[in-house]
Amino acid sequence: MESLSYIPGLKPADPGPLSRFIPPLEEGAVSTWLSQHAAPSAWVLDPFGFSPRLVLEAARAGYRVLVTVNNPITRFLLEVSANPPADADFKAALADLAVSKKGDDRLETHLQSLYITKCEKCGRDVQAEAFLWRKEEEAPYAKIYHCKECGDAGERAAIPEDVERAQRIAATDGLHRSRAFERVAALDDEDRVYAEEAIQHYLPRPLYALTTIINRLDALNLPAERHRALTALVLAACDAGNTLWAYPSERPRPKLLSTPNQFRENNVWTTLEQGLGLWSETGAGVPCVAWPNRIPETGGICVYEGRLRGLAREVKKEIPITAVIAALPRPNQAFWTLSALWAGWLWGRESVEPYKVALRRRRYDWAWNATALHSAFSHLFELLALGTPFFGLLPEAEPPFLTSALTAASAAEFDLKGLALRTEHDPVQILWERGEHLVREARQPDSELVQQAIEKCLIERGEPASYLHVHAAAVLALTEAHALKQPDQEFDAAFRRTQSVIESVLKGNGNFAHYSTGEGVDTGLWGLPASRQTESLADRVEVEVVTYLQKNTDGIYLEIEDDLYQHFPGLLTPSKGMIYAVLNAYAEKEGAKWKLRDEDAAAARREDLKAIGELLEKIGARLKYKVRRQDKLFVWEENGTPVRVFYLLASALVGRAIAETPYDPGQTILVIPGGRAALVAYKEQRDPALAERLGRYQLMKYRLVRALAGVPILTRETFEEQIAGDPVEQTKGQMMMF
Ligand SMILES: [Zn+2]
Repeated sequence: MESLSYIPGLKPADPGPLSRFIPPLEEGAVSTWLSQHAAPSAWVLDPFGFSPRLVLEAARAGYRVLVTVNNPITRFLLEVSANPPADADFKAALADLAVSKKGDDRLETHLQSLYITKCEKCGRDVQAEAFLWRKEEEAPYAKIYHCKECGDAGERAAIPEDVERAQRIAATDGLHRSRAFERVAALDDEDRVYAEEAIQHYLPRPLYALTTIINRLDALNLPAERHRALTALVLAACDAGNTLWAYPSERPRPKLLSTPNQFRENNVWTTLEQGLGLWSETGAGVPCVAWPNRIPETGGICVYEGRLRGLAREVKKEIPITAVIAALPRPNQAFWTLSALWAGWLWGRESVEPYKVALRRRRYDWAWNATALHSAFSHLFELLALGTPFFGLLPEAEPPFLTSALTAASAAEFDLKGLALRTEHDPVQILWERGEHLVREARQPDSELVQQAIEKCLIERGEPASYLHVHAAAVLALTEAHALKQPDQEFDAAFRRTQSVIESVLKGNGNFAHYSTGEGVDTGLWGLPASRQTESLADRVEVEVVTYLQKNTDGIYLEIEDDLYQHFPGLLTPSKGMIYAVLNAYAEKEGAKWKLRDEDAAAARREDLKAIGELLEKIGARLKYKVRRQDKLFVWEENGTPVRVFYLLASALVGRAIAETPYDPGQTILVIPGGRAALVAYKEQRDPALAERLGRYQLMKYRLVRALAGVPILTRETFEEQIAGDPVEQTKGQMMMF
């Protein structure tokens, strides 16, 4: 296995429609990777179609992207994102809907009237932006509004009128509810019960509003583009209208179809209006056709509506796939079930049919995920040529998701070429190659192998790591040894075996230190015993960033990041938080460029070090000590015995300083420039092992050395008092801790 450098990207400026269900990816990573592995206009395959943006990015970069999309909602998202209707069509479509009649009223007026409440301050009628509910209660307990008349805004208690209004709508609920599931499943359909269950996650008011709007969608006879625009707006409203909106927001990315204990009931009409800005893609449109139509060589998207299995035979004959890209799918019962529901609402029963299994399946575990992934990888194996690369992104990485992906790919004879992991909040980047069909001897996962892999990972980092990191180290070693799964073993059995070996190694024999307030192996951080301390990743990243800044006077963040990731590949990939902590300690931002601060230019720093060293010698002499200099150390001695030892640093490399200091921590003082104090505090907060060691030492800033040198009458007592009263401040302001 080679070492893979993490490819940096940018967080998208706007999250886009249904973003809470779409894989959170950075933009730019996949096009950078493709530019190194495939010529423009080459055919690229996304076998899962989970991320419309990933596909779009590849197509915009000039590739012909074949994508299989089984979920009708994701497919619609992809098609609309590739060629969004014009803003004018969105506006006109919403206006057409708004002015259509409901009785004597405009539809907009009618639907908005469902959300009328009273401003608590001025007593006027206002539109609630949302009502707040507790699970299984008959009426809302509060509401959120913004009164345009008096400016009163925020969360206010519900009044009897609010309760009455909610109950009035609930009284007619049965009829709308049955219409809503008839659009998904027929009366005699055995899956009807599942559709009914899914619809339970809609309160009567939003369900009434949505079904009313959806009926108009058919009845308005809009021109095609406007119809498409309105469908897009309604889709976003369908998601805004369910009960999966925890309040206050705890779980912004729901995976399970379950109503939170407290939730928002969003104003459906308002969410339609808000949808206007949601779909306006910034980039240019991209050709997007349905298989087997062909796209131009300049790039585009070819959508296969179905599963990979169906495509495999056809593709192999006709289309040379140069590379595979994908956001790997993870189970999302909430999104999958709702997708089936929404497809029925928007396009009728027939469109649900191929996807109806999503309604039925209730529980998805990681073994299920691995089995499904394995099936996909096996079809992929059939349609790809030997050696075809597969760049996979694993969003919202959890340890079992990683195990699932690696086990499935390995069992389908994809060779793992590299893996880069930044933090648990970033997608893991994985590179596979379609391997050979070999009969391999499968090994049992053994403890020794896992132990060595985790030790190696922690020695390389020189600091404690998250469970995800040590887990990744273990499963990578097991992948290389073909020990994740026996050929005749079920995935769930293989999973249990892998997990129990990793757990027993970590907990078992005192080889690892667990820094955690929780019991579970997956909590907190794992490290090596203090006796096995090596230079920490944070210290090495600091050195590398400073070296970069000395050589490059106009680096922008992405370039600095890219350079660092080359030096720290795989599981060593430093976090953005760490990079920014170092940059802020040494450099200033001018426009987009990071420049070393004037006082941190090498020459200026040398002068500074020399001056502070001389002051330490002078102060020592004034206090009647014999001063001895030993490299970076200044030793104050009395009768040949060291009393005070100063380790003089220009950096925040306190871990290195501690390792190099042979003297008793109680008498040793680490002297740092004031500008490094925040970085030292950052390192101490993220690394409990360092905090433990550093706690035994005293820190002192240059400023205090200068101040003490200027004190006219200095005694040994006042010196001790002064250094005791100079605590290095804790991290100020907001800092990314990861
Ligand atoms: Zn008011």
